[in-house]
Amino acid sequence: MATTLDTLLRDAPIPTWFGVGGRASRLAKPRTVDELATLLAIDPNLRILGDGANLLVDDDGIDDLVVSLDSPNTSFTQATIRDDGLVEAGAGFHLFKLMNQTVRAGLAGLEVLAGVPARLGGAIVMNAGGTYGQIADVVERVHALDRNGNRVTLERNEIDFSYRHSGLNHLIITSADLRLKPADVSALELRKKQINDAKAASQPMNAHSAGCCFKNPTLTIDLTHRGQLLGTKGQRVSAGMLIDRAGCKGLRHGTATVSTQHANFLTIDSKATGKARDVIELMREVQRRVLDVLGVQLHREVVVWSRHTEHSE
Ligand SMILES: Cc1cc2nc3c(=O)[nH]c(=O)nc-3n(C[C@H](O)[C@H](O)[C@H](O)COP(=O)(O)OP(=O)(O)OC[C@H]3O[C@@H](n4cnc5c(N)ncnc54)[C@H](O)[C@@H]3O)c2cc1C
Repeated sequence: MATTLDTLLRDAPIPTWFGVGGRASRLAKPRTVDELATLLAIDPNLRILGDGANLLVDDDGIDDLVVSLDSPNTSFTQATIRDDGLVEAGAGFHLFKLMNQTVRAGLAGLEVLAGVPARLGGAIVMNAGGTYGQIADVVERVHALDRNGNRVTLERNEIDFSYRHSGLNHLIITSADLRLKPADVSALELRKKQINDAKAASQPMNAHSAGCCFKNPTLTIDLTHRGQLLGTKGQRVSAGMLIDRAGCKGLRHGTATVSTQHANFLTIDSKATGKARDVIELMREVQRRVLDVLGVQLHREVVVWSRHTEHSE
């Protein structure tokens, strides 16, 4: 019988929503948690690929082993939805699919993440969310492996969730238990549609991007620009608004542009001609201009994988 090591792919593409960037020297798709532990023994620094919706891979690719938990018919891509609202799902399960299934089952909690592309593990690590809610609100416990291949279970109160943060990046999430609440199916369907419509109206959902590029910063001072108060000390403000006020909407570097629809979306012209390095340079330029014009340091939300340490995070 073939083992995970036999099925290791060489020089494999790394699919991301940006649709640009280099390849992985080695890519594996384990079918069990034990196989994942074997891979960790080979490369404890392996990188986990979710849906690639918050990821930019540099043009010359990476040497570290890349692991995708998307093999069909494995514990990583299965979910059990119970009537009482407990959902047990693998980390490789598509968030979109899980949201649709739970909404149809009359369970509330994931509809607030309508329009957020992710696999469950990636959504939890990033604490994906927005105006309507965040995944942390429904996580009951997380099952994971540490970098030594040991199984770990963390209860909700042991996880350091905050805005776009979980503190779980050092672990490999293998599955999670979510607690949803019984609710009316048609009300949930309507809410899902409203949220999808609101996102579609304000964001370039079909462009090649990774969603919002920068985290919304918390102001350290009252911020006034051209006589207008943009926010007060301690307030979390929209990075998109700051990028816009710094005059960056439509700014271009090579094949990358700051969206004119939503300034926190950096988009690539086309998958065929786009360069990840253009996005990296454009991110730097946006950070520089926002700092120069408004005195605010923006921090990346997008994860960058690069063999050059100065870009990688
Ligand atoms: C059009 C568009 C709209 C978006 N809108 C939103 C939004 O409204 N709100 C929001 O929060 N985000 C949004 N995003 C960003 C993205 O959807 C989220 O960050 C999402 O959580 C990424 O999940 P992923 O599975 O694609 O992770 P990836 O992008 O594949 O990976 C992101 C990070 O998570 C790590 N990771 C992934 N899976 C695991 C795992 N099982 N164990 C450990 N680490 C793991 C990766 O190694 C990487 O460091 C948007 C993106 C796009 C393209």
